Amino acid sequence: IRTKLPKVGTTIFTVMSQLAAEHGAVNLGQGFPDFDVPPRLVDALTQAMRAGHNQYAPMTGIPALRQAIAEKTERVYGHRPDADAEITVTSGATEAIFNAIHAVVRAGEEVVVLDPAYDCYEPAIELAGAVPVHVPLDPVTFAPDWQRVRDAITPQTRMLIVNSPHNPSGAMLGAGDMQAIADILRDTGIFLLSDEVYEHIVFDGARHESALRYPELRERAFVVSSFGKTYHCTGWKLGYCIAPPALSAEFRKVHQYNVFCTFAPAQHAFAEMLREAPEHYEQLGAFYQAKRDAFAAQLATTRLRCLPVPGGYFQLVDYSAVSDLDDAAFCRWLTIEKGVAAIPLSPFYAQPPSGQRLARLCFAKNDATLAAAIERLQRL
Ligand code: PMP
Ligand code: GLN
Repeated sequence: IRTKLPKVGTTIFTVMSQLAAEHGAVNLGQGFPDFDVPPRLVDALTQAMRAGHNQYAPMTGIPALRQAIAEKTERVYGHRPDADAEITVTSGATEAIFNAIHAVVRAGEEVVVLDPAYDCYEPAIELAGAVPVHVPLDPVTFAPDWQRVRDAITPQTRMLIVNSPHNPSGAMLGAGDMQAIADILRDTGIFLLSDEVYEHIVFDGARHESALRYPELRERAFVVSSFGKTYHCTGWKLGYCIAPPALSAEFRKVHQYNVFCTFAPAQHAFAEMLREAPEHYEQLGAFYQAKRDAFAAQLATTRLRCLPVPGGYFQLVDYSAVSDLDDAAFCRWLTIEKGVAAIPLSPFYAQPPSGQRLARLCFAKNDATLAAAIERLQRL
């Protein structure tokens, strides 16, 4: 067959999780928590199933959940999206990202992606027949160079994708970045896809600069979030997209014939959690900050050097004091020989910077898991 996605193989997350399982390694690779979801969420889910909420949900998501998302968004970002016209519940952020791209990007058009970038953007762009245009972030700070973004824009550009807090680096966009994006997109037909799945995992008193805070941005933005990240349930695959009515209408055309609707019982459960237990997302930053700090303090006893982590649940480490291997080879070696699985950064790039010696470790783990990993990393 003439494959439509010739460059796509198995994701690095699956590859490293399998390798970790094969070799009995502590898995700090693929990003998922190894601790339980909040008990109240499990109760709410089972209750929803027992109450009979087991058939198709409305295509856009159940009204109670869209209302709860609207209220939360107003509470956190000072802007209340219209629950009926602007919020669509999706099968994870992944489906939302796919829909947003397919809703507005035509064959032959260009989408600007900032590298390193999460892996699901590029295949969705290519399946749309469009062209990903890669602009590198700073190799040390992972900050965008907005002049380079400006230079990458052509009459064919239809979308810019940003991700804050950023996977894999944890870097966050600041208010100045949001202003720069507004300046670049003003008077163009370019849409913004803002991947904000780690919106509540921000540290040191920083403020998450959602595109929803900025009127000029939100009028052209698809803002994507994931309940998997916020409620420790990546396996439930539920998320949502907030976009203005005209964009949501196009988004929903794709959603309607992609999955039609998403897992109904969990929608009831998340509606309850957002409404009745806002402390969960309010305290998520502090919860993960304690993990980040404990993990970094322990990593200081190894030969790995920690990079700053402003947000998200990944710690980047520079391993150049340990090894000269390239990152893919190092992560395989670390998994097989040293018993700790990590994710190399090169798969997140169209063109990895040469000589970069960084690996990504997920700290969304129980203390015991992190301690077991540290004991092994101390032997490097
Ligand atoms: N975007 C980013 C930056 C992510 O890290 C992830 C999850 N790894 C996703 C999107 C996908 O989220 P979901 O599991 O809700 O589809
Ligand atoms: N988002 C997760 C990560 O970055 C992986 C999700 C997946 O396995 N596709 O590790």
